[in-house]
Amino acid sequence: RAKNQGSNRYVVYEATMKEQSLNKIKIESELRRDIANRKLTVYYQPKFDTGSNQLVGSEALIRWEHEESGFIPPSKFIPIAEESNLIIDLERFVITEVFDTIGEWKRKGMPVPRTSINISVIHFYQEDFVDFIIKNLATYEIDGSDIEIEITESVIMRGEERVNRNLLALREVGVEISVDDFGTGYSSLSYLQKLSVDRLKIDQSFIADYESNKEIISAIISMSHNLNLKVIAEGVETSNQIGFLQNMNCFEVQGYFYSPPVERSNYEDILTKYGVAS
Ligand code: C2E
Ligand code: MG
Ligand code: MG
Ligand code: MG
Repeated sequence: RAKNQGSNRYVVYEATMKEQSLNKIKIESELRRDIANRKLTVYYQPKFDTGSNQLVGSEALIRWEHEESGFIPPSKFIPIAEESNLIIDLERFVITEVFDTIGEWKRKGMPVPRTSINISVIHFYQEDFVDFIIKNLATYEIDGSDIEIEITESVIMRGEERVNRNLLALREVGVEISVDDFGTGYSSLSYLQKLSVDRLKIDQSFIADYESNKEIISAIISMSHNLNLKVIAEGVETSNQIGFLQNMNCFEVQGYFYSPPVERSNYEDILTKYGVAS
């Protein structure tokens, strides 16, 4: 067969492809198992107001500690989960974990800013997505105003009617909607006026090299202000970036400068130390 006549290089290439797909299958089945056993963890990254140095919110980020390989980064397993419906189970794990935690915080009387949860395209378009959220708000005795949903531009590109129905239903119960990684997608900007979103999250790639991206960043910030949207910068690591953003009237930031994503108990310490911005 043609395969057997190929060069060594071809054979090596083929083996690598096979290895890769086996590795993917392995990751998928182990992830499925660990989600079913609720063995994953949710980390929280605080979002700060640079004016008061207090918290304006936090983002829930999934962490998977594999029994042999240690922590596997989300960039490695989220795309695999997104190729199957596994992403739905994964995000429903995050949703219920976060809701449960917020419920505990509230019962303890802690002041808690909004916690955001990342939702993928596949999950957002799942028939019962909004029902799942609303049902669980009741189950865990928390409010829509305790949470925020982060969607990407790819969610919006899929078709307006269904998107807006979901967005409106979420906002009706007080949930806020943010557009994550803003500026990296290919969607038309007209949706910002038509759809019910609350906030843009400036993608961290712009902030990382802010000096080359000054015009783009300032355009996103003024557009947010003109459209009455809130705006937050992601991936903020230096005080120079903060100074630049403040000059542009952007005061909400998230990034290593303040804190990386941390375990729940560390997040509680940060919350207690800095407090919630009014
Ligand atoms: P994202 O939603 O844009 O989350 C922000 C990512 O930037 C996080 O990476 C966070 O750790 C990282 N980050 C925060 N501050 C800084 C900084 O100052 N510098 C740099 N270089 N990075 C910073 P993480 O936790 O590895 O997650 C990567 C992506 O994986 C997330 O990007 C999100 O798209 C996805 N992800 C994580 N958890 C979930 C989830 O529960 N559901 C879905 N659908 N996606 C998730
Ligand atoms: Mg996000
Ligand atoms: Mg992002
Ligand atoms: Mg991202």
